Amino acid sequence: WVNKFCRETWIEVNLNALEKNLRAIRRHIPKKTKIMAVVKANAYGHGSVGVARHALKAGASALAVAILEEAIVLRKAGITAPILVLGFTPLKCVKEAAVWNVQLSAFQVEWVKEAQKILEKAGSSKLLGIHINVDTGMGRLGVRLQDELLAIVEALTTSRSLIWKGIFTHFSTADEPDTALTRLQHNLFIRLLRFLEQEGFQLPTVHMSNTAAAIAFPEFSADMVRIGIGIYGLYPSEHIKQLDLVTLIPVLSLKARLSYVKVMLTEPLTISYGATYIANLGEVIATVPIGYADGYSRALSNRGFVLHRGRRVPIAGRVTMDQLMVSLGERKGKQGDEVVIYGRQNKAEITVDEVAEMLDTINYEVVATLSHRIPRLFI
Ligand code: PLP
Repeated sequence: WVNKFCRETWIEVNLNALEKNLRAIRRHIPKKTKIMAVVKANAYGHGSVGVARHALKAGASALAVAILEEAIVLRKAGITAPILVLGFTPLKCVKEAAVWNVQLSAFQVEWVKEAQKILEKAGSSKLLGIHINVDTGMGRLGVRLQDELLAIVEALTTSRSLIWKGIFTHFSTADEPDTALTRLQHNLFIRLLRFLEQEGFQLPTVHMSNTAAAIAFPEFSADMVRIGIGIYGLYPSEHIKQLDLVTLIPVLSLKARLSYVKVMLTEPLTISYGATYIANLGEVIATVPIGYADGYSRALSNRGFVLHRGRRVPIAGRVTMDQLMVSLGERKGKQGDEVVIYGRQNKAEITVDEVAEMLDTINYEVVATLSHRIPRLFI
């Protein structure tokens, strides 16, 4: 592959770990519950086509993305499994969704009626699958009122171009120790489902749980769970990890080869923009071909580490757009040495979780912001 990629920085995606994570979650939830693999944002930075293919092989039944374009990438790669767009899709894109056989989320009756008109006018013979998004406390997207929900269901069930495929809600605090809001959201959702049944409607696929809920509340699993972060071997929170109910293995490693190594023998001994790091005479400074444009945060300047020859070596100076420097101290190193930015090297490890903590963010953001220009290798 070195011949193919002209910069030696890459992501390794461990498919064996991915499969084990899916199996571990599978064992924890009811047998009848299906798994929808959430592969939005390029599969949380892991590479959406590769992850989607393997997740489907490893037992996922459907896929979820955030925007229609992400679904089309999967369809163009030949993936035929059901795909749901979780976010809002403007009406101008409805025809495209039907053409690619991608299911959309809906939560407004006007949108549903317009979508139906657009498809009928286009004379499309293809049915557009719709999942109703119910807002029970996330406060993002979703129908909140019973009457509005009923109007949407009536519009969907009488439509010739739309087909009611699912109904879902999303928990906002399922990863936290206080379970009150999750239980309240669950109760609200169940009450609305009962109401629809009493009105004589047969429910389509019901889903509500993300990774945190699937682990902490397997009894809420319903027909399907939407699993994102867990597939990638990361825990939604420290609390969920501490529950120790499902063992997950990190799937992603971020690696590079040193592009230059020098011994600092002459003044000035300044390193990187702003000259915020001054090396000692005789200090070994190595250059790593990764920077903030790759999703390696500039906030790790003078703070982060990489692994070199099984040991942690600190970042020296500011992270630049495409490169950063590390200090090897007095140790040896040579151009081409492999360094690990996230992952393991011998007995040493840098976890995505610890980097997230350093950055005062969550593991989701650390992986999801890894840019497209880093090649993903599925191993
Ligand atoms: N469902 C919805 C609506 C989401 O927005 C997300 C991700 O943010 C998920 C499911 C998956 O969540 P997680 O990655 O925590 O499993």
